[in-house]
Amino acid sequence: AAAQVVVIGGGFGGASVARALRRADPRIAVTLVEPNPVFTACPFSNVVIAGLRDIGAQRFGYQAVAATGVEVVQQAATAVDPAARRVTLGNGTTLSYDRLVMSPGIDINWNGLPGYGEQAAERMPHAWKAGAQTLLLRRQLEAMPDGGVVVMSAPENPFRCPPGPYERASLIAWYLKTQKPRSKLILLDAKDVFSKQKLFMAAWAELYPGMLEWVSLSDGGKVNRVDPETNTFETDFGSHKADVANVIPPQQAGRIAMLAGVADRTGWCPVDAVTFESRLQPGIHVIGDAAIAGAMPKSAFAADAQAKICALAVARLLGGGVPSEPRLINTCYSLVAPGYGISIAGVYRPVNGQLTDIDGAGGTSPLNAPAHERALEAEYADAWFKTITTEIFG
Ligand code: FAD
Repeated sequence: AAAQVVVIGGGFGGASVARALRRADPRIAVTLVEPNPVFTACPFSNVVIAGLRDIGAQRFGYQAVAATGVEVVQQAATAVDPAARRVTLGNGTTLSYDRLVMSPGIDINWNGLPGYGEQAAERMPHAWKAGAQTLLLRRQLEAMPDGGVVVMSAPENPFRCPPGPYERASLIAWYLKTQKPRSKLILLDAKDVFSKQKLFMAAWAELYPGMLEWVSLSDGGKVNRVDPETNTFETDFGSHKADVANVIPPQQAGRIAMLAGVADRTGWCPVDAVTFESRLQPGIHVIGDAAIAGAMPKSAFAADAQAKICALAVARLLGGGVPSEPRLINTCYSLVAPGYGISIAGVYRPVNGQLTDIDGAGGTSPLNAPAHERALEAEYADAWFKTITTEIFG
């Protein structure tokens, strides 16, 4: 019989690996399990929050994925039995697999920040999963009077999209500067260093002086507790009351990863650096944000790169072969204003079982680039989003 591969999660990693498996070997029967009929992408959702893009541009269906011969099942996976190699779905049916690939993304760690919970997120949105939360934060910004204070909080590492909080702060500052210029944004950070820091800070000094204030860990940026009743963030150095509050909370691998036994005590999933097979459960591979991928960040670009490598490895293993050692690339673009893009890129290979930066490859945009280079990078960012979403969902 044909080999059966089940994929859990139809986001960047999961939809990509499903298609790549069909390309690698059309004899493999691939089933993609995803509860939502439409995927809402996070990259560029900060542009939606700034009012510069419609949420419709973030939405993708699964028709094109199904057209490649992937069986798309619109259900949530509710349990995984690694010994029996079986997945249970929300409707009670089960799927057997020879190999399982999981790309469930993140869940908010609701125990990670005192005062914050699912109820609190309706008042203090995280907007770290795109969709209703993105639109809620957008509406709150629109309703805020000029002169209001926006307070954001960013978590410790690791979390989804390392430059994401800083891109969001930049684009909200753009909105305030152009629409509500007497307002202010405070970004409370649980870290002293962050991705593309020099580039962001130079851009903030140039574009948003006096408007965007970043508070580092050392300066009291770590949030110990939030209070949704008063929209307040509490730190060791005092509290900050917000008109609009955006809490980017601590995160962990999607819940199904815990249920399947592929997550360790960190809340994330240790994997083999060549095949992305779980170090805890043989026969299950984990890619994307849920995986501990060494030096690779939790990005859509990385999830897609891992999906392609994982698909080749799974096809090779099913055929009784030995997967070859991979090289993977990541690039993360950020917009600090419309027409002003910056980026960071890396190239990775397994070293002693960990995905490790290849020295001298990759890097960031130059610190002192002329405006036309920033404009070009904004165009590259746009082109990257079109390319990756067309390859995966188009
Ligand atoms: P996801 O894309 O989140 O997909 C997970 C899927 O699994 C979802 O569709 C979910 O419904 C499904 N799922 C979960 N549990 C189950 C279950 N039990 N059963 C079945 N299905 C399940 N990355 C970039 O590369 N560039 C960017 O510019 C960028 N910008 C970002 C901006 C923001 C504001 C944010 C929050 C993120 C950004 N990212 C960016 C990061 C990117 O969104 C993630 O890294 C990427 O989505 C990870 O892919 P994934 O497959 O791991 O998870």
